[in-house]
Amino acid sequence: MKVLHMPIAMLSRCRGHVGRFGKLLRLGAVRHLAVKALPSFDPDNGQVIFANQSTWQLTFSWLLLSLCRHRILVDLGSKILGQSWICREPQRLTSRALLASVRSTAFAHFCGGETLQDCVGRGKHLSSAGVRCIVDWGVEESSEPAAWETNMLRKVETLQRAKEVLGLSAAFMPIKLTSILSPALLERWTAVVQDGSQPPEDWHLEEEVAAALQRLRRICEAAKDAAIPLLLDAEQSGRQPAVHLLARQLQREFNTEEPIVYDTVQMYLKASPQRLDQALHYAGQHGYIYAVKLVRGAYIEQERPFGTIFDTKEDTDAAFETAAEKILQAIVTKRPSAALMLATHNRSSLFNAVQMMEKLGLARNDQRVHFAQILGMVDNLTYALGLAGYNASKLLVFGQIHEVLPWLLRRTRENRDAFGAQAHELPVLRNEIRRRLLGRLGRVPR
Ligand SMILES: Cc1cc2nc3c(=O)[nH]c(=O)nc-3n(C[C@H](O)[C@H](O)[C@H](O)COP(=O)(O)OP(=O)(O)OC[C@H]3O[C@@H](n4cnc5c(N)ncnc54)[C@H](O)[C@@H]3O)c2cc1C
Repeated sequence: MKVLHMPIAMLSRCRGHVGRFGKLLRLGAVRHLAVKALPSFDPDNGQVIFANQSTWQLTFSWLLLSLCRHRILVDLGSKILGQSWICREPQRLTSRALLASVRSTAFAHFCGGETLQDCVGRGKHLSSAGVRCIVDWGVEESSEPAAWETNMLRKVETLQRAKEVLGLSAAFMPIKLTSILSPALLERWTAVVQDGSQPPEDWHLEEEVAAALQRLRRICEAAKDAAIPLLLDAEQSGRQPAVHLLARQLQREFNTEEPIVYDTVQMYLKASPQRLDQALHYAGQHGYIYAVKLVRGAYIEQERPFGTIFDTKEDTDAAFETAAEKILQAIVTKRPSAALMLATHNRSSLFNAVQMMEKLGLARNDQRVHFAQILGMVDNLTYALGLAGYNASKLLVFGQIHEVLPWLLRRTRENRDAFGAQAHELPVLRNEIRRRLLGRLGRVPR
């Protein structure tokens, strides 16, 4: 099985979403060989999934993730580390001591490292399970024009360097638009564009928008050259309609032959099902590939007072599943096609998607369907997807520790929810540690 698995995993990682291999796979020429040779998606088989990880690594992960579930601990830690002077003055003695404690714990677990080069080792390790990388230089939003230009140049450089140092392991690269353009611009256009109505014809010619689009086009060109598609991050709902507008413009320009730009749709928003239909329709009308990253949404605490999100988690879950199904169907039926990235840590969503792919006759490594999770979260799910031949990636945020601290704090807060997706996966880690320890004592675990 392993021998047959190798070439398939390599094929699945081949570049060019509509390259020769991509076309072959889509046509199903090697699909039957691939499916027969690969194991099924089995995220509970810790022995196989974690075969490449030492018991110490597993224990460290389990301890850290278990600690993250204690609300009081996480809230206290966030309060201390959230002090702005830590990031502003990282050289201060107290800052250094605090940052050092984060470096050896949460940073080591959830981040790729301080530099892109640091991510290479992680990338190699992940690729042994058929998992690729989404490298992200952890930069936060800025209202400074000089910073947008610098951030754009650094993004272009990161794309080029990612291609050099990670090679085929580099799957995608995210962009946080508010690091490249004015957050106020997004807010202004969001206020102008009412849900469902068309923006003025010449909206993209407005001076500030045109300048922002120029910066974004430079990044898109670099992404195209490096064959590393871009994922536009979704923001708060007071900005998101403008992000969709920019995404639509870039997709029209760059997604004519292959998906270079992925928009993000947050399915916790009541407006999203309708927006998704409109986006699919618009792409069909204008003849480009609608590429979308589906997420549930990360800004629940900020959104709740505005009444923009669904009333219950179940409603969000239902909207997410319906949307995933709709895009998978569009991939099969629409011309030009669509492309989907399911960015979720939710086990049921992943099971539903892989079943739907099978039902629709989509090959596991079809280049139009991808899955992604954050490094250090639900590793059993990502590795199981990769080992089963699906296009699975991990998000690797990298940067100086004081630069990525705000991102890290958000991740730890997300993990503290005992009912969150990560909590469901902890037993798989614990059982594998137990199995190994008992094995060393010569006992067979029950
Ligand atoms: C690779 C990657 C990229 C991402 N990019 C983005 C991005 O660009 N923008 C963004 O906003 N998020 C992004 N996220 C985060 C994502 O939106 C979710 O916050 C996170 O993944 C948790 O959702 P889940 O589907 O993994 O798991 P689950 O645990 O199944 O879902 C938790 C989510 O359900 C929703 N939810 C929880 N309770 C309720 C409730 N009472 N009512 C309604 N909804 C509820 C919330 O969205 C919450 O985050 C990304 C995640 C990944 C893995």
